[in-house]
Amino acid sequence: MNITHYDACPECDLLLNPNTASVGEKAHCPRCGLLLSRPRKRSVERTFALSIAGFILFFPANLLPMVGITMMGNANTGVLYSGVVALFNNGMVAVATVVFLASILFPLVHIILSLLISGHLYFNYPNRYLAHWMRWMHHLDEWVMLEVYMLSIIVACVKLMSLAKLEFGWGLYAFIALIVVTTLLTGNLDNNLFWQRIHQLSNRDNNAS
Ligand SMILES: [Zn+2]
Repeated sequence: MNITHYDACPECDLLLNPNTASVGEKAHCPRCGLLLSRPRKRSVERTFALSIAGFILFFPANLLPMVGITMMGNANTGVLYSGVVALFNNGMVAVATVVFLASILFPLVHIILSLLISGHLYFNYPNRYLAHWMRWMHHLDEWVMLEVYMLSIIVACVKLMSLAKLEFGWGLYAFIALIVVTTLLTGNLDNNLFWQRIHQLSNRDNNAS
């Protein structure tokens, strides 16, 4: 059985042959030019390694202090989570919820999903939830917004610079590293290859049982 997932261009609906691009090539839609696929070298291995790195980095990024603020003799340290709590306490419940989801919960779930998927593919270990995990991860892609949170930290720091003494903590460096790793993660994940491998694994599993 041959299942092709992209038989129509997602942008202009032009019907296309199954993807045949190989590593180093790019497949564009001949009509609208949309980048359809860009096979990556050792995508499973790289995604697996980056997922492990991201999972490890998640904890210092969230638990270690990001900035130390000394203002009028009072010293405060801010961790990622305390920003969410401060917003919540100031009555900005909606903003607090969005920040919590987009910068803490969704990134964590996203990393765990890519860790699970690439780990199963790396060890050729079938799992009937692989396709579900893959779909959930795609939905989360649009909701992981670490960079947005990073920008707001920079803006807040610049504003505070004149009023207070700021000290950057390890949490901030871990957070920056986490942004780099998640960006590389999305860039290295070869969608077509992952789906192909998932189908191979599930076919093998079905034939064996
Ligand atoms: Zn097109």
